[in-house]
Amino acid sequence: MKRTAIYPGTFDPITLGHVDVVTRGLKVFDRIVIGVAENPKKGPMFDLETRLTMVRETFADNENIEAVSFTGLLVDLAHEHHAAALLRGLRAASDFEYEFQMATMNRHLDERIESVFVMAREDYTFVSSRFIREISEMGGDVTSLVPTPVLSRL
Ligand code: ADP
Repeated sequence: MKRTAIYPGTFDPITLGHVDVVTRGLKVFDRIVIGVAENPKKGPMFDLETRLTMVRETFADNENIEAVSFTGLLVDLAHEHHAAALLRGLRAASDFEYEFQMATMNRHLDERIESVFVMAREDYTFVSSRFIREISEMGGDVTSLVPTPVLSRL
């Protein structure tokens, strides 16, 4: 039986920080299903379909990585894909509080699914989708921070 983790997020857009989380996740899990959340409240820059396509193109050559979009509960998505865990990344203490709340809520919803965290790579601790959007809107260079499928769309 393959050990599967769900890596959920908004991915607006996917960054090399996200890619690093997936790479680290694959050291522990056999298969990672990236769940791209619709998240209309966040007023995303890229629509759901485009965010999903950018994730799929980024990992096109790895058969152990799959990407799906979702709107409902994370624990339901985990069941659907027979996942034992939810994978998330931590950059700084500021990420912790939100992640702690989310993990605790998900545990409340389903005890069986474990939240697993990996630490950001040192040189990506400052990388966030929000900064990528803002910097590229102002004409800044984000070439070394996002995968190619994102670069061509920014
Ligand atoms: P969300 O809206 O759910 O926070 P994001 O796409 O912003 O979605 O982030 C998804 C996950 O990836 C979160 O756990 C976030 O902390 C993590 N993450 C984002 N950027 C990085 C990075 N540079 N390094 C490590 N983890 C990251």
